This record gives sequence, C-alpha cells and structure tokens, in this order.
Amino acid sequence: MLIDSHAHLDSERYAEDRAAMLARAFDAGVGTVLAIGIGEQAGGMHRALDVCREFKGQPNVPRLYASAGVYPHNTPEIDDGVLAQLDGLLAEPEVIACGEIGLDYYHEGAAHDTQRRGLMQQLEIAAARNRPILIHCRPEDGATDAWDDLFLVLDEIWRPTGLGGIMHCFGGNWEQARRSLDMGFLLSFAGNLTYPKAQPLRDVAARLPLEGVLVETDAPWLAPMPNRGKRNEPAWVLHTALVLAEVLGVEAEEIALATTKNFFRLFDLRADVGNW
Ligand SMILES: [Zn+2]
Repeated sequence: MLIDSHAHLDSERYAEDRAAMLARAFDAGVGTVLAIGIGEQAGGMHRALDVCREFKGQPNVPRLYASAGVYPHNTPEIDDGVLAQLDGLLAEPEVIACGEIGLDYYHEGAAHDTQRRGLMQQLEIAAARNRPILIHCRPEDGATDAWDDLFLVLDEIWRPTGLGGIMHCFGGNWEQARRSLDMGFLLSFAGNLTYPKAQPLRDVAARLPLEGVLVETDAPWLAPMPNRGKRNEPAWVLHTALVLAEVLGVEAEEIALATTKNFFRLFDLRADVGNW
C-alpha cells in the first residue's frame, strides 16, 4: 500500500472523472490520499473536505483525508472571516493538517511580508487545533531566501509545539533537509524527483533516513516520468516511490511500508477517521 501525501483532488481538472481517477489509484495500490484544501482562492479551502465526504464509505476508493490552509499567494485574502473558516475546518476530524502554507518567492504574487504574516497567523491556528502543517517553500532560483525566512518563523513559532509537519514537494538542499528533520518534519518527494535534471535532489534524498520520507503526486501537477507533462493523478505516485526506492537502495515494498508508517505516525491516525 502506498500513500499519496499531497494531491489536489478538488481540482477542476478532475470534474469529469474524479470517481474513476480515485478508482485507478485504489487499483494501483494507493491506500490513502491526503486531499489538499487550498481551493482556487482562500474561500475554497473547504473543497478538499467536501471531496473527502463525497466518497465516504465508498468501495474501491483510497482512504481520504483533507487539509485546509491559505496558499502563500492567496495570503492577501486573509481576513477575520478566512481565519475563522480555517479554524472551523481544522476542528473537523477528517481535516488532519493545515496546509499547504508557507513562502513562495519564486512566482510573482503576494508581497513577502504579507506571506510571512499569513503564515504566522495560520501557524497560531494550527497550533491551537493541534494539527501538523504542510509547508510549501520555493525560493528564487539559486537563492535560499524563502528557506531562510521559513526557518526563522518555524524555529520561533512552530518548533515549540512539537507538532511537526511535511515539507511538501521537497526541493531543498541537504542543510534544509537536515533542519527540517531536526524539527520533526517529514520530507515528501513529488514527481520532479524522477526528472533527468534532478540529480542534485536525488543526491539529497539518498542521504535521508527511511523514517523521514514520504511520497506524493501534487496532482494534477508535476506528473512523474514517464508521464511528465500530462495531468497527474494519485495512481502515479508509484513512479516516484520506485525512484525513491532506487535512490535509497531499498526494495519498493520497504518504501511503501516506511512512508505509510511515517504518515500515520505524524498524524497519529486512528482507523475510524477519514472516509472509511
Ligand atoms: Zn500542492
């Protein structure tokens, strides 16, 4: 069994075939998917939970959990209403994580200080609700700015909670990986781990302990080889898992077992929560 730790199941791009897409994941051995609730805009952050509930109790569908959070470039939309919505969602049993939240200095969008303030506001709510966080961190090309700012915030506000989280679509260097693990984070690898030019990332992954890794699709984006460029879906997390197994020099079954154990340990999940 594999877990896709990050998929945007509420994406419009699954409007026509969401049930069939989830059935393909189940048939491919994906037992659990964490549906990311950021919507197109902050107000749509409930949609991952909606998908989770829509498929509750249905056969031949992976177990679904949801997250909720305001994406870095949507932080200008944060007001009291958005924060109250987030707080209410994090109180729901299926909403096991706050995210994806973080800092994105790569794309044009929200001012950096607006992103940092939005991140800090959400960390406060996640801490009060005892929910681990899903971090999106993307520096400018060749820079470490976003990581440096992120660790400043997390060291001060998040480390004391001991709740940890996931560095989603990890693309950092060894130092950033080490600091993340040290703070109780898991590093989740997406399809870009399989790309020909990603050898530096594979070199970082090769040094990681099995207890610190996860795999994800970030579907509908970032399809792994050999499906690069297509609409991604959770069934394809297998391709990334196979590359991670090769990089770490272990059998595919070991990666499946370790990532599943890591996911359930981080979220302290019981069997009676989720869509089963
Ligand atoms: Zn994402």
